[in-house]
Amino acid sequence: MRLKYIKLAGFKSFVDPTKVPFEQQMTAIVGPNGCGKSNIIDAVRWVLGESSAKHLRGDAMTDVIFNGAASRKPVGQASVELMFDNMSGRLQGSLANRNEISVRRLVNRDGQNSYYLNGSKCRRRDITDIFLGTGLGPRSYGIIEQGTISRLIESKPQELRVFIEEAAGISKYKERRRDTENR
Ligand code: ATP
Ligand code: MG
Repeated sequence: MRLKYIKLAGFKSFVDPTKVPFEQQMTAIVGPNGCGKSNIIDAVRWVLGESSAKHLRGDAMTDVIFNGAASRKPVGQASVELMFDNMSGRLQGSLANRNEISVRRLVNRDGQNSYYLNGSKCRRRDITDIFLGTGLGPRSYGIIEQGTISRLIESKPQELRVFIEEAAGISKYKERRRDTENR
């Protein structure tokens, strides 16, 4: 599984439609302070279902929508699409046999969110489901940010267990059990 590119429009500082390609091997994003490097990572976590404004460095969930600049008016919605290479079949679920999987999230000023898998409308849950156990999720270890390592080292045993369970691939089964028990 590999992230091939990300398309942003109206998301934080990326007001105009922007495509960021990720070539094989390694991609480094460099630029001066405030140019939008961290906003790209916020975009990835947002599409994967992040539901806390604080974790996206904002106060409200609609803060991810471009809010205007000296020479530009604010826009009405934010949209981000992630395109994954799924040749390995790592992403399971109804799209398991697809070589490419596109995941998209959209939000408008009313705070209405829409989610899409390969262009078809779906629930947030459908997206979080296919990534469970892959190590990639809004708060999973696939994304290591500043401070993540020290937080891991200092975490309580219960918090550490969540990471270990995700790495071991059992978190999706726990989630399903919780679901069944709640029915
Ligand atoms: P650093 O090197 O300091 O970590 P960075 O490249 O990671 O910087 P980001 O934090 O990604 O920078 O980008 C911050 C910029 O994004 C700020 O200029 C901020 O004004 C802009 N920004 C964030 N949210 C919005 C928004 N909703 N609308 C417009 N601009 C926004
Ligand atoms: Mg940054």
